[in-house]
Amino acid sequence: MRIAAHVVGARDLYVAICARYRAEIDRLCDAIRELTADGVFDGVRVTVVEGPEEYLFGEEKALLNYIEEGQPLPREAHQTPVERGLFASAASPNPALVSNVETLARVSTIVRSGAESFRALGTADTPGTVLFTVSGDVVKPGVYEMEAGTPLKRLLYEVAGGPRAWRRLKVVLAGLSGGVITPDRFDTPADFGSLALIGSALGAGGFVAYDDTRNVPRIASALARFFYVESCNQCPSCKQGFRLASSAIDELFDATRATADDPERALYGARSAPQGHRCYLPVQGATVVPSLISRFRGEFEARYREPLAPTEAVPGCCSSSTTSRRRGPS
Ligand code: SF4
Repeated sequence: MRIAAHVVGARDLYVAICARYRAEIDRLCDAIRELTADGVFDGVRVTVVEGPEEYLFGEEKALLNYIEEGQPLPREAHQTPVERGLFASAASPNPALVSNVETLARVSTIVRSGAESFRALGTADTPGTVLFTVSGDVVKPGVYEMEAGTPLKRLLYEVAGGPRAWRRLKVVLAGLSGGVITPDRFDTPADFGSLALIGSALGAGGFVAYDDTRNVPRIASALARFFYVESCNQCPSCKQGFRLASSAIDELFDATRATADDPERALYGARSAPQGHRCYLPVQGATVVPSLISRFRGEFEARYREPLAPTEAVPGCCSSSTTSRRRGPS
């Protein structure tokens, strides 16, 4: 951050982190105190911003809004951090540079060892290493630093230990940003270009694996509800689209309400969410929810024919409360 601030001439540095992460915040503050004592931060101010659980706290325009006004609400789409930064005034838009921690953490190594050294690992479009997060139904879930372009199969089976005994992996979510990945695609290198070619995405390097005990409509139900709950309600089609998608999928689990067109209604709801959107959240939901329905259509139709409510929790994608948040204008 200090190097980045030097490059763009910034005087105020903010580190944003979820307030729940107490141990990490304590370490962060200790490190800032040490670096301050060493004079590294001479001439700049460093502030640690402890924020809420909301997914949108990590959205760049919402993050700036949170620092200014205490609400993680994305600003309008055209107000990028470069166009309107922090505490803009009539005299200056006070542009801001917003980067994630993993990106900034690479900077000191690149400055010290050079770009060629950084590019010696990884692929042409994704140089260096990536912090991959593998969770869900694998024996060794965790965060692993690996060379970009490592085949998914190696990441899932050799590094994260693969599925439990007698089980097989059924589907993998590429975070919340891309289409789901089925086993026939596990040879794909985990880099931006290769994953985009199969309709998925590298995103922040997070993968959630589900084994063959999982019920895909149940996963889709949790995801649709996640997007519905996390939508901040500033853009009507976003909230309404995911409300329709979520309720249509949930109906499949209710014998008195399930209808044959529930999967189609869910597809329509999710796909209609991104219209006039301020942020990328509905684009993510409009990708991942339909990709589950399209690739496992048979399971959704079977669920309609036998709409029993499963009781299992779905790991990795649904930690939100089930209450709709209505922070934006109604
Ligand atoms: S697109 Fe959705 S989540 Fe993003 S600002 Fe609009 S309502 Fe909120």
